[in-house]
Amino acid sequence: MRNFFQRQGKFRPLSKGDERSAEQQQIPEDLWVKCPKCGELLYSRELERNARVCPKCSHHFRLSARERISLLADSDSFQEWDSTVSPQDPLKFVDGQGPYDEKIVKTQKKTGETESLITGSARINGRPVVMVVAEFNFLGASMGSVWGEKMARAVERAVEERMPVLTVNASGGARMHEGLFSLMQMAKTIAAFHRLGENRLPHFSLLVDPCYGGVPASYATVADVMIAEPGALIGFAGQRVIEQVTRQKLPEGFQTAEFLLEHGMIDQIVDRGNLRDLISTLIDHYLGAPQGLGSYSANGLRSATELEQTVTVVDTPGPATTTTGGMS
Ligand SMILES: [Zn+2]
Repeated sequence: MRNFFQRQGKFRPLSKGDERSAEQQQIPEDLWVKCPKCGELLYSRELERNARVCPKCSHHFRLSARERISLLADSDSFQEWDSTVSPQDPLKFVDGQGPYDEKIVKTQKKTGETESLITGSARINGRPVVMVVAEFNFLGASMGSVWGEKMARAVERAVEERMPVLTVNASGGARMHEGLFSLMQMAKTIAAFHRLGENRLPHFSLLVDPCYGGVPASYATVADVMIAEPGALIGFAGQRVIEQVTRQKLPEGFQTAEFLLEHGMIDQIVDRGNLRDLISTLIDHYLGAPQGLGSYSANGLRSATELEQTVTVVDTPGPATTTTGGMS
């Protein structure tokens, strides 16, 4: 008879070890979501429709890498590169939770990804672009050897194919399990982007919540344009660590995108809904109508279909005409 009162399915009580807060435990997670900023209860489907931005207070919830790609890239335009590059365990590292190689297998199963960085080519409003997107659910998007390798390969392909690079950066820092190998990725990625710059191709860095450690300390904050989402936390060390070391109280809003913008560390804060248009405008601004990419327009945005029509016209043999300001 007791079983009669036990709730089933979505409304079952939470099992032991569930890490949700006491407030959240009252709400079935997959149906309603509580906004951490305004406290409003949001119907999760409505939140999905709104690109996971709170319709009441504009709080930007975190997105997975795949959600980010489908939000930014034109539909079905993303072609993934190097998806089979998998992490190694050169140090045979064991932490409090067990061996690193076992952890990799478990995380790969849980997330369906082979590593914390996804690379590939896509189109945004019709413009070709190399996309490099971090997956925070994969070991906190920590930067390990595979991160550096995939990043370097993606940038090299961007140089070969004369495409701009958009990086979407979230990270918890270096992959400690790989020791020095992970730290070396900072130099490796910076070197790759240096080559991109030498070839007069732009790097746009989108900083999303949370972005810490070696990623903002290397390539992510030396891009041609640095954009952040509202409220994103961006920094090197975490606030608590800084407070403990300096024994000083940090100013309000420290390490938020707004704070960084005020102090000249980033170029612009952009709402999620405007990202696509901003990025395609930036691509047009930097690449104008260079040879081989004759379809770019510096005269504002046009729809992807309009652009395809333009491509067929411009595709005829002969030198591409450069009328608008490029990088040269
Ligand atoms: Zn809200």
